Amino acid sequence: MKGGYKGKILRVNLSTGRIEKENLSPELARKFLGGVGLGSYLLFKEVPAGTDPLGESNKLFFCTGPLTGTRIPTGRYVVVFKSPLTSILGWSSSAGHWGPELKFAGYDLLIVEGASSSPVYLWIDDDFVELRKAQHLWGATTSETQRRIRKELGDEEVRIACIGPAGERLVRFASIINDEGRAAGRCGAGAVMGSKKLKAIAVRGHGGVKVADPERVSELVKRMYEVWKSEPFVRSLHLYGTNAMTSFTSGIAAFPTRNFQSGWFEEWEKLSGPTLSKTLLVKKAGCFGCPIACGRVSVVKSGPYQGMVVWGPEYEHVNTFGAGCGNSDLEIVSICHQLVNEYGMDGISCGRAISFAMECYEKGLLKKEEADGLDLTWGNKETIVELVKRIGERRGIGDLLAEGTRLAAKRLGRGTEKYAMQTKGLEYAGYEPRGMKGMALTYALGNRGGCHITTGMLYLDIGTMTWMYPLDSPLDPQVLDLEKVKAEIALERRYTVIEAAVLCKFFAGIVFTPSLLASSLSAVTGWEMDEGEVDRIGERIWTLQRMFNVREGISRKDDTLPERFFTEPLPDGFSQGQVLDRKTFEEMLDTYYRMVGWDENGIPREEKIRELGLEEFLPLR
Ligand code: SF4
Repeated sequence: MKGGYKGKILRVNLSTGRIEKENLSPELARKFLGGVGLGSYLLFKEVPAGTDPLGESNKLFFCTGPLTGTRIPTGRYVVVFKSPLTSILGWSSSAGHWGPELKFAGYDLLIVEGASSSPVYLWIDDDFVELRKAQHLWGATTSETQRRIRKELGDEEVRIACIGPAGERLVRFASIINDEGRAAGRCGAGAVMGSKKLKAIAVRGHGGVKVADPERVSELVKRMYEVWKSEPFVRSLHLYGTNAMTSFTSGIAAFPTRNFQSGWFEEWEKLSGPTLSKTLLVKKAGCFGCPIACGRVSVVKSGPYQGMVVWGPEYEHVNTFGAGCGNSDLEIVSICHQLVNEYGMDGISCGRAISFAMECYEKGLLKKEEADGLDLTWGNKETIVELVKRIGERRGIGDLLAEGTRLAAKRLGRGTEKYAMQTKGLEYAGYEPRGMKGMALTYALGNRGGCHITTGMLYLDIGTMTWMYPLDSPLDPQVLDLEKVKAEIALERRYTVIEAAVLCKFFAGIVFTPSLLASSLSAVTGWEMDEGEVDRIGERIWTLQRMFNVREGISRKDDTLPERFFTEPLPDGFSQGQVLDRKTFEEMLDTYYRMVGWDENGIPREEKIRELGLEEFLPLR
């Protein structure tokens, strides 16, 4: 391979202790690129149908992409696995420096398989790879784990991805944390690590990443910097971090409030990016090579957590622990943000589990005595913080909520299912699909469940731009029509390639055009790719992921949203009266299936599978 790849896969078997290095096939790399592409391919190949996500047979694929560690701004890695939260394909990506470090150590991918009988951590120092005992680290928070491993290895530059107590206790939405506050948050990768008794992966690399055409890469980077400087949304990301989004979603009353009972939070300004900047913010932080620096570092100024340094808060937590729970206190949001990072949990699923419990309590479906005597009234600050801790420790009511809203509702019964705000088991982020109707499609069709970022639809629905899908004029957020279906299809393919490349979706999703994406891949790898090939790779990976899920039992019945969105109009604000029309939604689903070559039940047709070169996975069931 001319550039972009190290050509090596590191495979570590925790049951046997065997460590192997394998070659990466160039043909496979061109077909699936890397990241979520190669990860999904290998998951399908190596993890049999019906595998217990928390059993020994599940695997973790830590994947970089051809662009990782190059001058093209990205600091991410992707981890692919079968999810203990959704029981389908799970993947999660994280920013920071860990991904490039793995590449600098000489590996495109790390495969972790089997399970250890006692806690261990993996130490990768270029060619030198070993498993080390981690009994002494079991129970430590994520920041403590990183601090102690760095000290133990005598190197402050070591990059560490680790789990906290939530992963050890198999909280179904446990995350992996690297570089202090960067999280591979969604779908429960941390619980899979915990089930394997793998506490951490420490990496130190001293190599670089060769690119095929360095001059062309320089020109492209120059162009990217010009675009990012002139793009207003990117500027607001730089100024306010991801919390810039609070003003946009509140502006159209699509800021999920009190477990999606409304999209209008009357006190949203107390939670906004400018408020954060004026009150708690200490500094901005960025990933490897990225000029946007959308990360935040804040400090709690009062109360029992005074002085707590917070690597955030991010927009999603502002919504889930803020408006989602009826709370307007940014300090409480910040405390929750830091606590979920220290326990190692996904703040979206955790926050939604809390607002689910609060709504059940409000409706009389969850009694105070069943909730450990806690008062679950909306906005009760002490309760919100306490529930985060109880979930992270699987203590009392926290043990139920640690199952995620879908399973918790199933265990609780009493009709509580309708308050579990999720698709395929994955809880929604901070975008209300009645006020942002394109998001209804993205949530319903996401291959990892109710994810907000498998497409860039949210940008179209808030009326800003994504250069990945250039439009002459903004789309109407309150309309679900053929234009939204076309956007869904184009964006899911391009965003999948971003996640395979591996680029940051904030950066690439907004700044890159499809042609810039193709040029970047060509300049780095030396394979001349046009937009058509890039889109085809995205389609191939997306279809493969759907095929994996079909093998696990997914079909049209799962491509939906909770009844609330079809029957309860939004009560106030700009989106007042908005609701999803069931007939239109089903028609758009039919249109989507037809356009992507799936049958009316949402199963990819055999001719489409063959056309994409995926016939090795036939028959599906
Ligand atoms: S935009 Fe933010 S998350 Fe993305 S690479 Fe830059 S700093 Fe990291």
